[in-house]
Amino acid sequence: MKYVSTRGSAPALGFEDVTLAGLASDGGLYVPESWPAFTREDIAAMAGLSYVDTAVAVMRPFIGGALSDEELRELCAAAYGRFSHRAVTPLVQLDHRQWMLELFHGPTLAFKDVALQLLGLLFEKFLSRREDHLTIVGATSGDTGSAAIDAVAGRAKVDIFMLHPDGRVSDVQRRQMTTVLAPNVHNIAIDGSFDDAQALVKAMFNDADFSARFNLSAVNSINWARLMAQVVYYFYAAVRLGAPDRPVAFSVPTGNFGDVFAGYVASKMGLPVARLIVATNVNDILHRALAEGDYSQGTVIPTATPSMDIQVSSNFERLLFDVGGRDGIALAEQMRGFEATKAMRLTNAQREGASALFTSHRVDADRMNLALRWAYEGAGQVIDPHSAVGLAAALAADDLPADVPVVTLATAHAAKFRDAVERAIGLRPGLPSRIGTLFDREESYARLPASFEAVTAYVAERATPRG
Ligand SMILES: *Cc1c(COP(=O)(O)O)cnc(C)c1O
Repeated sequence: MKYVSTRGSAPALGFEDVTLAGLASDGGLYVPESWPAFTREDIAAMAGLSYVDTAVAVMRPFIGGALSDEELRELCAAAYGRFSHRAVTPLVQLDHRQWMLELFHGPTLAFKDVALQLLGLLFEKFLSRREDHLTIVGATSGDTGSAAIDAVAGRAKVDIFMLHPDGRVSDVQRRQMTTVLAPNVHNIAIDGSFDDAQALVKAMFNDADFSARFNLSAVNSINWARLMAQVVYYFYAAVRLGAPDRPVAFSVPTGNFGDVFAGYVASKMGLPVARLIVATNVNDILHRALAEGDYSQGTVIPTATPSMDIQVSSNFERLLFDVGGRDGIALAEQMRGFEATKAMRLTNAQREGASALFTSHRVDADRMNLALRWAYEGAGQVIDPHSAVGLAAALAADDLPADVPVVTLATAHAAKFRDAVERAIGLRPGLPSRIGTLFDREESYARLPASFEAVTAYVAERATPRG
């Protein structure tokens, strides 16, 4: 399997190189050069499989010889063995047609663990083969940072430097990062906003010498291997609800469009997906893009669902590429226009291609709170605000055939956003026992000004240079 860039001029790479590269050298994102396809029989044969066996079956065609089936199975067993639920991603029923797929049983209580636990192991495997070393640098407003740190803590071939805005992540989120005391984990609280932290990370990648000297790498959802790992649970859930004989719809709380794009990939591979509902909060660039063709950046409004507070959605480029005829040169031009003006119109082909499968809903705070109460009062389920945005959108999709089940992806554990949950239902979710000692553990992190010199000096002193 070869991977090509959405902007048409980076070299095609195999799975191992794509995993280590993250972004393509022409600024685009890597996608498989064609979609592997399963037959009805292939999908029917997934009926009784465990999560790990489903993962091997679904991901095998993307790996293309970079790992043997045995190696892939071992990595999946290790990654998903760290989840606290035997089903890894269990389905929970809310009424006769609404379901939730719980993706938050991993070590840091958000769905990002599903992909990052595997990515950490893939990094280690490929780097040991090459006797190479990576320095991960990232900026986080919460969930990605803790999931990435947990996935690579203590691994010999990787150092991780995670920047968060000082005082602007929740206590639970900060402690999930700063109480990991492994020597290769470096937390930095930046005196500034998330955007300041993000700008520092971008500047480090743009410094070609610095980036090459420390072999910098990113773990955000532009990495293909992350999306690939997320395709698995669409199959796992749909097969349990009757696929390949019965189509299933999914509602996905969306920010960077990674999770819902994985659903699109599943559909391309032959899974009968009746619809993908893109649920946004009031930061609705994706809703405007899908409903009106208007992809234009506004200013971020902070909400109770911080992991969806975005105004640029990186993985949307992958959809535009695939539904727009896979013309990388034309898309590069369109994206340059967007980067210059912060706005673009979707082409007719892109709009029609997207509307075949996607609809979208913009969910405000009132509807989010109603959905939280609906799940609690009618099904005894305490859900998190992000999942509630997804559920609100699922409940609004009343034009689907009555026999199509609707699965909302539950992307975070309610305990991660306790204040917002308590405000909506009057009940404060407890921390699950696996992270129950979080508030007793020692924290370690540096505080640095939002200065390029200060941050690069800090990284250079602690990272492992190449060669
Ligand atoms: C990251 C995240 C999302 C958004 O997922 P994308 O793949 O960026 O669209 C939604 N909910 C939670 C809890 C998250 O951590």
